[in-house]
Amino acid sequence: MTPNTYSMTWNLDDFFPGGSSSKEFHAHLKKVEEDIHSFEKSIKDWDAASSKDTGLAAILKKFQKADLGLEQAESFVSCLQAQNMGDVKANELRGIVTSLASKFNTAVTHLDKALVQIDDSVWQRLIEQDHLKELHFVLNERRRQAAEKLSKEEEALINDLAVDGFHGWEEMYDAIVSQLNIPFKENGKEVHLSVGQAQNKLSSHDRQVRKRVFDEWEKAWGEKAELLAATLNHLSGFRLAVYKKREWNDVLKEALEYNRMSKETLDIMWKVISDNKKPFVEFLERKASLLGVDKLNWYDLDAPVTESAKAYSYQEGASFIIRHFGEFGSELARFAEKAFEGRWIEAEDRPGKRPGGFCTSFPLSGQSRIFMTYSDTYDNVSTLAHELGHAFHTYAMKDVHPLNCHYAMNVAETASTFAETLVADAALELAKDDGEKLALLESKIQNSIALLMNIHARFLFETRFYEERKKGMVSTARLNEMMEAAQKEAYADSLGLYHPHFWGSKLHFYITDVPFYNFPYTFGYLFSLGIYAHAKKEGKEYEQKYISLLKDTGRMTVEELAKKHLGADLTKEEFWQAGVDLCIKDVEEFLSMTK
Ligand SMILES: [Zn+2]
Repeated sequence: MTPNTYSMTWNLDDFFPGGSSSKEFHAHLKKVEEDIHSFEKSIKDWDAASSKDTGLAAILKKFQKADLGLEQAESFVSCLQAQNMGDVKANELRGIVTSLASKFNTAVTHLDKALVQIDDSVWQRLIEQDHLKELHFVLNERRRQAAEKLSKEEEALINDLAVDGFHGWEEMYDAIVSQLNIPFKENGKEVHLSVGQAQNKLSSHDRQVRKRVFDEWEKAWGEKAELLAATLNHLSGFRLAVYKKREWNDVLKEALEYNRMSKETLDIMWKVISDNKKPFVEFLERKASLLGVDKLNWYDLDAPVTESAKAYSYQEGASFIIRHFGEFGSELARFAEKAFEGRWIEAEDRPGKRPGGFCTSFPLSGQSRIFMTYSDTYDNVSTLAHELGHAFHTYAMKDVHPLNCHYAMNVAETASTFAETLVADAALELAKDDGEKLALLESKIQNSIALLMNIHARFLFETRFYEERKKGMVSTARLNEMMEAAQKEAYADSLGLYHPHFWGSKLHFYITDVPFYNFPYTFGYLFSLGIYAHAKKEGKEYEQKYISLLKDTGRMTVEELAKKHLGADLTKEEFWQAGVDLCIKDVEEFLSMTK
């Protein structure tokens, strides 16, 4: 038997032949525009307040049609742009799709406002009807959230003003960052590094390099600190002003709603993490001694202690993933095989491609596409498994009503992290020598440190900052002070030198679309580890249960999801402790191997 040779480029012609010049795609865009228009019109014609049996079912059909067509179009354009950043026509198509999406969103806002106008008793009867029953959760949620906002006219005004008054600040941030560069002496010559290039140097083996880059890094962000502070203050000020008008007092309200989780769950998750810092501090101390220093500084956190020499060709990586997915379940393995064979993956290493990786779905075709650049490292294998996990999540939801398919950021990473963990543990088990094993362990632990310490610092800072911002502008000096205090707390005082300008260097604090772009990462990581623990206990039987869990991710709260599928209570310490314990196990192994 000869080994499989999978193509490293994807097939997009299956959807619309001809790339960014595709006639079929232009026809599709026209169709989507008509569908959005027809959806819009059906809402306008619908007298929600007075009618008994409303035309809601028909409106939702139109919603669904426009939604799926739009997603198909967005995915296609994302793939075109990613595979060739110089594709000018693809950029033009992006403009068209963005304006269609904006039209669609406005229509959805009108629908939500119409839902609020329906009388409570009429509403109850309405959603008990057979064809709407399965949408019970999402429809109630939309109606409740719309009710907590201001009037249609006021919300429309806010949306209009937000273009320059809110989202404009995010663009301002990008503009400031694009002008920033970090001077660095290399081979006697001074060069100017972009933010991304400088960041890469922070994981250099050479401590002198890291230190020099970091000094310049802090200095460069410091020079822009006044501009960044003004940007952050205005951006958050707008957000808080809107909250105040809507009478939302808790700064976390929107973020929690969006992630469909309770405050209790969030609090208990952080409590368990805070109570378990000790092993991670021991890891950082061990890392310091392995690097030959007294105490780690911020710029040492990403420095590698070991180096994995093992290379994986694309074909080896693919077989490795399929084989170890198979140890968990046959459906996941077969799915991955189909993705490799069907050219769902763009992995070729060539110039002109966008950096990074993603997975996107084509709902009208029942397929996904994965984008990445593969260069034979274990990290690449891990990324590939991660993205295949996302694709499997979509596959698991294939028969679910499209309205029930929208899951939040905190569960979005469940299937991907799960797939990554399956592969990481297999690689660990098969490691040929201590060096390779140590490198794999280190990479797993670094991930835990990022999610349990770094993200924790971001969350502590952001909640405290928003509270202070309620009282007025927060000065640059105070921002630095708050950031450093949050880092000290999150890293349990284990570092020598911190990164006070982190509030400026981290883009996530400036994202206007999603508030608190931090705790959902940590939630997703530990939630996925909780599922992993169940999978280990139950063996191959577990796969079908896993699929049913994924199916439900878009139609219930996370507490309901955990209760139904894991028998777990997310508001209790036990579940979170089990996840953190798995991370601690890796640390203990690392400590005993490096004694
Ligand atoms: Zn992901």
